[in-house]
Amino acid sequence: MSSPNAPQRLVLVLLSLAALGISVAASRATFDLLILGGTVLDGTGKAGVRAEVGIKDGLVARVGNLRGESATDTVDASGRIVAPGFIDVHTHADDPAETPLLENFIRMGVTAVVAGNCGSSSESIASEFEAIRRNGIALNFATLVGHNTVRAAVLGTAQRAPDAVELSRMKSLVAKGMEEGAVGFSTGLQYVPGSYAARDEIVELAKVAGKAGGLYASHMRNEGTRVAEAVEETIAVGEAARCPVQISHLKIDSPNRWGTSGALLDLVAAARRRGVDVRADQYAYTAGASSLSIRFPDWVLEGGRAKIAERLNDPRTWERIKGEVKGLLAERGFTDLSWAVIASYRDDPSLNGLSIKQAAARLLGRDDAEAQLETARQMLGKSNPQMVYHFMSEDDVKRIMKDPDVMVASDSGVLTPGQGAPHPRGYGNNARVLARYVRESRTIPLEEAVRKMTSLPARHFGFKGRGEVRAGFAADLVVFDLAKVADPATFEQPHRYAAGFGDVIVNGVPVIRKGAVTGARPGQILRRTPNGGPAGTVLPAGTVLPARPR
Ligand SMILES: [Zn+2]
Repeated sequence: MSSPNAPQRLVLVLLSLAALGISVAASRATFDLLILGGTVLDGTGKAGVRAEVGIKDGLVARVGNLRGESATDTVDASGRIVAPGFIDVHTHADDPAETPLLENFIRMGVTAVVAGNCGSSSESIASEFEAIRRNGIALNFATLVGHNTVRAAVLGTAQRAPDAVELSRMKSLVAKGMEEGAVGFSTGLQYVPGSYAARDEIVELAKVAGKAGGLYASHMRNEGTRVAEAVEETIAVGEAARCPVQISHLKIDSPNRWGTSGALLDLVAAARRRGVDVRADQYAYTAGASSLSIRFPDWVLEGGRAKIAERLNDPRTWERIKGEVKGLLAERGFTDLSWAVIASYRDDPSLNGLSIKQAAARLLGRDDAEAQLETARQMLGKSNPQMVYHFMSEDDVKRIMKDPDVMVASDSGVLTPGQGAPHPRGYGNNARVLARYVRESRTIPLEEAVRKMTSLPARHFGFKGRGEVRAGFAADLVVFDLAKVADPATFEQPHRYAAGFGDVIVNGVPVIRKGAVTGARPGQILRRTPNGGPAGTVLPAGTVLPARPR
């Protein structure tokens, strides 16, 4: 039997389409999706304009008056804002293959996340990407390669410098991560084992990422009493390694340094003036989240769980540890741990949501500073609980937010309703910026807030062809009602989704439609295009990795 010629094949295709009930006319529509009647903010900080957005093949095809044009599907955006989908460059959404809808993110308008932050990434980025491709993912995904992950693979938790052979093994692990598609290298210098690394080691590893076109993102060594030195170190690493710098979750976490955020922003601005490509990100809360162990001196944490418990349970060593913990607190202007709230404690989940002060009262019948330290000792002796720390000032949060080079980023992982007592930023960060800081306190204008969530992160992270509503750019879009945007998640009741983001579109496909999650998984893996500015070549729907890394 000979194969049908071209016209015969077309007839066969049309017949089978008709048999399947698929309208042939629909495929002739000008657009796959048309967003009608909204006010379009293009993401660059320009004022909004009334316009339609026509989407075809995953891209924004046209922006303008498109009423009357044909489309397979339409979204009515009357009275709402149409903006680029939010790009959250500081997340811990590691291993999203397990939870491919990333609902806490898409429900606050996020259409792209960067994982692998604070020095902690997947050990195999290639297999992480493979799992994501296999399961699909609702939003676009990129990752950094983490210093702590790399250091732990070579040195474990040893508190010493690597020798030449160990350093070269670490460098090759960073190089491998970059080859597999990482967008840069991250450090978490307040966490073991990253905190054991001297600047030289970080520079050597950041150079490897820089050469491969990556940036350097840092959770700095200190965010309180020595935060200015830490900012200087972060910038110096970028200068020495010749790569762009991202200062992660910029904040001032010590009461006796509150009010000094202006000086930090000046340091960053001065570096930019001398040519360092440095930016920062921030979450919009006066509390942070971290582990309990971060309150303890480094030496206590060396050598793994059994060693840590041994030190904590030895009365003489504990006296020394306690003295140092008190010293660390006093240095920052604290007299106790009442500002520390237990978010998630494996060994006694009934403590979740209580401050250490409240937990001490429950466990020991008293809540003074000594009882709080004893409670911390007992908890860390069993496992390392996740904590929420109330340690920032609203004035600093606002001053940092007003800086035009600071992005909005959540610092959150993928959250599961009902699990633990996580920081509410994972459900509400973008919504909170729009509701509390744009609509209510008017700290920054709407256009600026959207720019800080879209084109600013897209340009710095090199996500070319993303972060703006513009013909030829990927159709990553969020349609929201500013009057209705809300972040009901609180520290007491964190598991509440953001409100007001009725339609969220990733690569032209709705992942939220009329407020409901569609279950679609149109996300792509994003790579970094260095110097990827707003103009120039636009890649079709971003850069997608080949099926297997070459
Ligand atoms: Zn961090």
